[in-house]
Amino acid sequence: MSYPPKCKSCGAEMDAEFVDIGIGTQQVTDWECPNECGYLEWQYEQDMKVANVKISFDEWLKNGVNSNE
Ligand SMILES: [Zn+2]
Repeated sequence: MSYPPKCKSCGAEMDAEFVDIGIGTQQVTDWECPNECGYLEWQYEQDMKVANVKISFDEWLKNGVNSNE
């Protein structure tokens, strides 16, 4: 459970922030590659797990940028 995922691009262990909530720790930020190379692909996969409409990675990049406005 505390095992950090590894970046698919460079293999580095990814970082995230955790807080102690009494019964354990809760992750409060997304996993991020310290080299920032695999983060977008990971975020895309997370979004697609809950998305009503599946879109391509390229479309997601465009929509993601726009929806952050
Ligand atoms: Zn990486």
